[in-house]
Amino acid sequence: MRLQGKIALVTGSSRGIGRSIAVRFAREGADVGITYHKSKEGAEEALAEVEAAGRRGHLLSVDVASVQSVQAMIKDAVAHFGRLDVLVNNAGMEKRAPFWEVTEEDYDQVVDTNLKAVFFGSQAMVRHLRDSGRPGKIINISSVHEDLPFPNFAAYCASKGGVRMLTRTLAVELRGTGITVNAIAPGAIATEINADLLKDRDKLNALLGQIPLGRLGKPEDVAGLATFLASADADYVTGSTYFVDGGLTWDYEEQ
Ligand code: BGC
Repeated sequence: MRLQGKIALVTGSSRGIGRSIAVRFAREGADVGITYHKSKEGAEEALAEVEAAGRRGHLLSVDVASVQSVQAMIKDAVAHFGRLDVLVNNAGMEKRAPFWEVTEEDYDQVVDTNLKAVFFGSQAMVRHLRDSGRPGKIINISSVHEDLPFPNFAAYCASKGGVRMLTRTLAVELRGTGITVNAIAPGAIATEINADLLKDRDKLNALLGQIPLGRLGKPEDVAGLATFLASADADYVTGSTYFVDGGLTWDYEEQ
């Protein structure tokens, strides 16, 4: 077990990639805070899986787009578990629209969820770790689109590019604290965020043709990498983004 005795918090872990990370962490020996926004049912299922692995779980209802809610989340998790060692900033969303039609409301929703939440969640985590004089690990779930243009998803790309630079900057600014900050850039993973794509056979086939490994990713593919980054094996790793995309990045063309 690679995370024995660790305490982790994974945002957006009622479903998809976040849930897979929460459950894998528990199977690796960690206690896990599970946050959800809309899907309480999914969060309860995740909790049951964490407990089935013999670990403690704790459910938190959080709107990551609200800084207050994100700060309360770290406080609540620390009060419940006594401390936190690992924060995974996973909650995210995207909205498709041509650039010239994006509304301020949609922009705010995407950027607040994908970037502002990572900024202030990490800030609250760093304050907690500094106050208790302990090292820790922050893992940001970014996207291949932190690098790769994604037409019709300009706000999403702007938010993920922001996560890339936040990850690098914090890695340097947190020098001497023992806190590492890294990101994971998933490609096309079979989760609800890709529900429309999964229903469109032609688009799906075109995309599969651009993935050298010939399949969409599974949430578990991302969870394996997150486990490495949360573990002592990654103690000398900070400021990096790891791509888990089946090779898509080097063969991608928007359809
Ligand atoms: C997006 C998906 C997209 C994938 C590959 C992800 O960041 O959320 O919608 O399929 O990148 O383009």
